[in-house]
Order: sequence, then structure tokens, then C-alpha cells
Amino acid sequence: MKILLASSEVAPFAKTGGLADISGSLPLALKSLGCDTKVFTPYYRQTKKGGFNIKLIKKDIKTEVGNASFDFSLYHCKKDRVDFYFIEREEFFNRDFLYGTPSGDYPDNAVRFAFFANAVLRSAQTLNFKPDIIHCNDWQTALIPFYLKYKLKDLDFFKDTKTLFTVHNLAYQGLFAKETMPQAGVSYEFFTMDTLEFYGNFSFIKSGLLYSDAISTVSKGYAEEILTKEHGCGLEGLLKLRKGDIYGIINGVDYSQWNPETDKFIKTPYDKKSLQNKAGCRQDLLEQMKLDVPLNAPLLGVVGRLAYQKGIDIIADSMKDIIKLGCNLIILGAGDEKYQKLLTALAEKYQKNLAVRIAFDNPLAHKIEAGCDMFLMPSRYEPCGLNQMYSLKYGTIPVVRATGGLDDTIIDYTQNPKDGNGFKFKGANPKDFLSALKRAVSVYKNRGDWQKLMIRAMGFDFSWKNSAQEYIKLYERLFL
Ligand code: ADP
Repeated sequence: MKILLASSEVAPFAKTGGLADISGSLPLALKSLGCDTKVFTPYYRQTKKGGFNIKLIKKDIKTEVGNASFDFSLYHCKKDRVDFYFIEREEFFNRDFLYGTPSGDYPDNAVRFAFFANAVLRSAQTLNFKPDIIHCNDWQTALIPFYLKYKLKDLDFFKDTKTLFTVHNLAYQGLFAKETMPQAGVSYEFFTMDTLEFYGNFSFIKSGLLYSDAISTVSKGYAEEILTKEHGCGLEGLLKLRKGDIYGIINGVDYSQWNPETDKFIKTPYDKKSLQNKAGCRQDLLEQMKLDVPLNAPLLGVVGRLAYQKGIDIIADSMKDIIKLGCNLIILGAGDEKYQKLLTALAEKYQKNLAVRIAFDNPLAHKIEAGCDMFLMPSRYEPCGLNQMYSLKYGTIPVVRATGGLDDTIIDYTQNPKDGNGFKFKGANPKDFLSALKRAVSVYKNRGDWQKLMIRAMGFDFSWKNSAQEYIKLYERLFL
């Protein structure tokens, strides 16, 4: 089967969050199962600076978006037998960030990603790559099914192509002023409730939800949650109409990158049999973060985008009690200015017990996974969540809110001491979070039990094998 995967971020080339991990690792898993997979993504400044072996393959390709015609260049890199293609248009992608600065989104995101969607389709034609499936991801590529259905409907090239739209996060919808529709090549006749209008705005994500052949989300739990008012982000009505076409497939982990036995970023690699080496990772992390804490005090870690979703404020409001429980905390994050300031102020206040790094720093993310005892994810919602799965592999016990993919992957130890791999809580508030942390700390104090728990957690396998097979089954189903 020929699969074209379109994504606005692909690791290791450019990354802001989990979408990049998935877009980078799923194609490798599909390839190893026999799919001919090609990935298309923008050629960002970040990618250009990354030192990858990326080569120009064609210049001056043209694509029309609305009344405008845009030139772009196509670049290529082969990695682990998969073809990655990069769409270069300096004006749109040679910027400091992918989607916007900490104070807000880039104002021309509608035209940037409408262009990208068109350029992907044009590139496939240029390469004479006729995909069986175009796998779109999130709002940035959500217009592809629309263009196929309306703009390119008479084109023979894509007549047998089916589309899958994967929702990695329903809250990010690509909402723009009505006036941007012509720039995106979408006529005003699609500004209705049944088409691409969403409360007075032009919605990119609705195109993916309405016009794709199937929809998937990144966990079974989230696939059900998005049908509810609480997690449907206003789209639950539409989603219910497509309920029969919605599938939940849990993200896989790329264990070639996230494995304490082979991790090149950590000081002292370890496995289940050499857990004592984790202490070296802890020491290295503490030194890097300039934190000096007792050996037997639990060290907690947080890595994530600083957004409302992630419950950073719940941690901030709990800080005093976290310290009272004898814990120390390391936070790595970048994102909303509001949370960056909140955390910077908190680190000033609790210098002895809290170290904060405001940055996007992949090596440090690995060091935190390896060097901490517990990993906190008090997310308000979490479509899948990758860090809790990484944490398990590193024997760093997750303390998570029971939502979406977190609920699907973490089994509460208190409720289920035989199978538990972490600690879960219900309410998105400090009280519930702290009560789970308290339970975790009391198990931590019993070294024998804690070590057993770590070893069990490290044995959980969330590799791509199963999930990639599920994707293939879903692709095949679209042709039945
Ligand atoms: P989301 O996709 O909502 O951001 P996930 O848990 O699915 O959350 O994936 C987050 C990914 O991004 C993980 O690989 C995590 O390590 C990484 N990440 C998030 N923030 C940072 C950061 N500030 N520095 C380094 N890596 C980060």
C-alpha cells in the first residue's frame, strides 16, 4: 500500500510536541510492515539548522491557492528507509517558530497551511506518487480532504485515493476570520454550519472531520471522550454524526529513541537489572539543574508544552504541599507566556526545591525521564500523552490524571497493586492531585515495593508494532 503522510511537524526535523514524534516514527513502523510510505512536511528554519542530510530535488514548482500562485521547492531526505519530503517556501517557513511566538499565533497561519496542503498534493503529482491513502494530521493538513473532494475532483491522479484524518488534539482547530477563505481557496458557499463555518469563523479542522473517509484519534479513551460535551470542543455534534467512522489507535513509542539502555543523552544507561545506575542519571540531572537535594527525597519531573491543557497551574498551586511531602521538582517546558512567567516566579520563590528550565530541550527531556523518580502529568485532557509511556520505560513512575490516553495506559497501583504501573487521580485540582502524590510517596518510602513497581513499569510495551498494524487494518478498511 502507498501511504502519504502529511504533517506540520516531524521528529527529528522539527518538533513542538507529540505530533512530531508520531509523524517521525509511525512511517518507519509502516515501512517495516511493507507499506511504501512518504512523509511531507514544511521546511522550517529549525530543520535547516538541524544538520540533516537534506537535498534539493526540484525547484520552481507551482501551486494555486485561491487566486494566487505560489512557487516552492521540494527537498528530500531518506532516513531509516523512509522518504521524507520538505516543502520550502522561505516567506512561510523560514521563521523562529513553527506556528507562532510565545505571545500568539502567526497572523498568516491560514494561508501558510492552506499553501502547505496544496503543495503536498502538488508534490505527490510532481513525484508521480499516487497514494492509496493520504494520512492527514490535525488542522494544519485538514484542508487536504476538502481540496481532493472539491478543487481536484476531476483530476484522475487522486481518483482512487482515500483519506484518513487523525485528531491529535481537538482543541487546536485552525479557526480564522471568514475573510481568509478566499486566500485558502475556499469559496464562501462553504461558510455554513454544515460545512466549514464554526461560530462565525472559518474552521480548518471541520474539513478534516467532514470530508475525510475516516477519522482517528490517538487513544480509544479520547475517541469516546470527543463525543461528549466536556471534551468535544463544540464539535461533538458533528462527531456524533460520524461516530461509525471514528477509530481510536494508541500512539506507539519509538524505543530506538526512548530507552534507558541505549539513550545517548543520559549519563549512566541502565535496565531492569542495573537500576542502581539510575542514581548516576539523577546526579547528572541535579547538577545540570543546579539543585541540591537529599539522596532519599523523591525527585519529580515534568516535561511539556506550557498550555492550559497540561495543568501547570495545578502543580503551581500545589507547590507548597509538594515540598511538605518531602519532594523536589524539575520542570522543563515552553509555551504560553503566562505559564512561563508563573513558573519562573515559582522557581525564584522555591529555589531549594524547584528548578525550572523554560526551553525546548530534547536532551534535557531525556535526562529528566531518566533522572527522576516520578513523572507528573495533571492534564485537563490528554488525547494520548507520550511522556507517561516514556516514563514507564525509564522506571520513572507516572502520577497522572485519569483522562484520555493517560487513563488508557496507566493502571493505578493503589487500586490494583498486582498490575499497577503508576498513580491516577480524577479531579483536575490540587486536592486530588496531592492525594495521588501522597499515595505514591508512601509507596516510595518502602524501597522494596517501589523497586518492584519500577521493574514492572519498565516491562510495559507500547511499541509501534500493534498500533501500526491497527493503522494498516484501518487503511485497508477504507477500500472495502
Ligand atoms: P503534546 O503532544 O500534547 O505536546 P505529548 O505527551 O503527546 O504531548 O508529547 C510531548 C512530546 O514533546 C514528548 O516527546 C516530550 O518529551 C516533548 N516535549 C514537550 N515539551 C518539551 C520541551 N520543553 N523540551 C523538550 N521536549 C519537550
